[in-house]
Amino acid sequence: MVTAVEALAALLLVGVVVWLATRSKFDKNHPVEKSEQTDAPENLAVSSLLEATLTGMREGLLVVNRDMRVVASNPAARKLFNPSVATLQSQRLTELTRNPEIYSAFLDGLKGLERSGVKVETHGPERQIFDLRVVPIGNANGNGAEGALGVFFDITRTERLEIVRQEFLSNVSHELRTPLTAIIAFVETLEEGAIEDRESSQRFLSIIRKNASRMHSLIDDILELTSIEGGNVQLRAAPVDLYTLVQNVCASAAAKAAAQSVTLQNKVEPDVMVYADERRLEQMLTNLIDNGIKFSREHGTVAISYESGTRDKILVQDNGDGIPSQHLERLFERFYRVDRARSRDMGGTGLGLAIVKHLALLHRGEVTVTSELGKGSTFTIHLPKIG
Ligand code: ADP
Repeated sequence: MVTAVEALAALLLVGVVVWLATRSKFDKNHPVEKSEQTDAPENLAVSSLLEATLTGMREGLLVVNRDMRVVASNPAARKLFNPSVATLQSQRLTELTRNPEIYSAFLDGLKGLERSGVKVETHGPERQIFDLRVVPIGNANGNGAEGALGVFFDITRTERLEIVRQEFLSNVSHELRTPLTAIIAFVETLEEGAIEDRESSQRFLSIIRKNASRMHSLIDDILELTSIEGGNVQLRAAPVDLYTLVQNVCASAAAKAAAQSVTLQNKVEPDVMVYADERRLEQMLTNLIDNGIKFSREHGTVAISYESGTRDKILVQDNGDGIPSQHLERLFERFYRVDRARSRDMGGTGLGLAIVKHLALLHRGEVTVTSELGKGSTFTIHLPKIG
């Protein structure tokens, strides 16, 4: 993507230079942005095409003369430096920004040097990151260039994605390392003699098995999430009999619920139909019901119900401990847990809700949560209606 943008920039730079060359002499008394158009019709067409391109492009473009005053800019540059003024014309670069990186890049441009890959960050209400490229304009004789042209590529999104990717990788490594460390430690203990003691060795082996299964679930969930996020999951949406589906999910979770003395209640009316990929909806409900059971108190209840509205709503409600409100906003993020140790202890991967969120989005729906401490939580899957 960067190469395409760079190619575009190169094209534009050539265009701008041609544009500047076809206009009046390049100095501060003849600002190019406003100069009168007296060219032949064919030049006029080229010039208006360039003007439209410069206005429409997302990259900020700034041209300064030898005095470091702006002689040309486009709306994207105005938005970047000073959205409140109509034009940046004639302003000194130092009036626009105090960023020394920008200043030194343009200074180099005036000395006839090309600079690229200058990373510029803005710290306004919305933090943005730009990759600045500056090229000299005009003959770079002994006195330096006549001006310098800078293009600001917005790389905020790319940078953000890179941070998310790095965080994900470091989370995955951390999550895998924890059970692996336990496995190695217990294998070493067995090797050092504990294997002779039947009772301890049984206990250690069961810890090893538990940690190995955790790694297994983690890898399964990571692969699942990556494939959903990567757009490799195709939905086969069709009308689904919700009551029967909920019955089946409850039947599969019955043993787990019984082990925790939790009651599952299917409150969906028979004949309710929703429009979804049945297997994926089952996966979402399984995750939410599983959480409901895990985070319930003993003798708690997990109830599944349906509400109609502009969208179909499927509610999974428990009367467990509830979730402190400060956690609700981040609950669907990968690896986010309210109580990390408790989640791990219960075999959680911290990816279940992220998977539910992405599956709901894939259905062009969403998943939301409300919760009250001490009273319980309600997770709601919102799905577009049939047709
Ligand atoms: P985990 O594998 O830890 O269950 P999830 O992504 O499914 O991962 O859930 C993330 C976290 O959200 C859990 O660790 C828990 O802190 C919280 N959570 C999820 N569902 C519930 C619930 N029904 N009641 C209370 N907390 C919940």
